[in-house]
Amino acid sequence: MSINAHNPKPQSAAVQPADLPEVRGKYIAAQSLGDLTWFRVGGAADVVYLPADADDLSAFLKNINADIPVSVLGAGSNTLARDGGVRGVVIRLGRGFGDIMREGETQIRAGAGALDVRVAAMAGAAGLSGLEFLSGIPGSIGGALAMNAGAYGRETGDVLVRVEALGLDGEKRELTPDALNLSYRTNGYRDRVIYTAAIFRGVRAAPDTIKAEMDAIAEKRGTSQPIKSRTGGSTFKNPGGANPDGPKAWKLIDAAGCRGLRVGDAQVSELHCNFLVNHGNASAGDIETLGETVRQRVLETSAIELDWEIRRIGEVAHGA
Ligand SMILES: Cc1cc2nc3c(=O)[nH]c(=O)nc-3n(C[C@H](O)[C@H](O)[C@H](O)COP(=O)(O)OP(=O)(O)OC[C@H]3O[C@@H](n4cnc5c(N)ncnc54)[C@H](O)[C@@H]3O)c2cc1C
Repeated sequence: MSINAHNPKPQSAAVQPADLPEVRGKYIAAQSLGDLTWFRVGGAADVVYLPADADDLSAFLKNINADIPVSVLGAGSNTLARDGGVRGVVIRLGRGFGDIMREGETQIRAGAGALDVRVAAMAGAAGLSGLEFLSGIPGSIGGALAMNAGAYGRETGDVLVRVEALGLDGEKRELTPDALNLSYRTNGYRDRVIYTAAIFRGVRAAPDTIKAEMDAIAEKRGTSQPIKSRTGGSTFKNPGGANPDGPKAWKLIDAAGCRGLRVGDAQVSELHCNFLVNHGNASAGDIETLGETVRQRVLETSAIELDWEIRRIGEVAHGA
């Protein structure tokens, strides 16, 4: 088995819940991925699996037929699901993975299904500073680990103590940030484990000071990013990585004249041109075509090849 919905082997028949191991969680057949992703586009997953807890997920992984492709989705805020849908099983960590609790004096343990914004709020209320940057990232902790999500000079790896995960064989593993080999918007274990929880470290500070910082982040985001739109966040990685002095994707896109560029109902945001937005009726194909057009124009004007930060999953629709 592999986590490989990105380039799945073509399969003749859709996987059905009856083809899958018995679980305590829930299977949903033919689930629209537009309902589970921020862009609100995309075909259906053969099956979406909502594990009850880590033991349920472990048993599923141990018993599933190795030929069935398996992939993981968090809050869907960095994912573009293609119109042809995703073959196999999409695992979505929900309620059973949403707990957030204090661990000792300065640590917070969060389930991989917990939203970053809730983790930041809980840390703040507990008087633990350092996780404020998570308050502006609309994903889940699992997505933050997979993407090494970051903002305003901090990344998930900076505050990470360890993660709990399951290998694709269903075996439980604990990994340190060193072992994960986290780097700019990725990590060395990408697609090789499923995160189930993370332990973060903070430093003691007054809750009021932390809240003021989170309020400032919210205000900054509200004026600089289309946060109320159907979007996937930053579309492309900054070619200079986390280096604050390196080239910025948005500047290259702007210089290539792409601000406001449209394909159907998909548009390069006027507010932040590294964001693509769906004005309502865009297809995943429109959004991906727009992104590829931007990449081509940036290559022509700046001789720099932009790398997608957004994860694209599934198959292009037949006839598209
Ligand atoms: C308005 C907006 C603003 C944003 N701002 C930022 C920002 O400032 N900084 C930033 O870094 N990102 C930002 N993003 C992008 C996105 O929020 C982050 O990448 C986030 O970490 C993705 O989390 P998710 O749960 O939504 O992941 P998803 O989009 O669901 O998945 C992303 C990847 O994570 C993997 N994944 C998810 N959960 C798990 C798991 N439990 N185990 C293993 N793999 C898993 C998926 O397989 C996929 O490859 C923004 C997005 C939006 C829409």
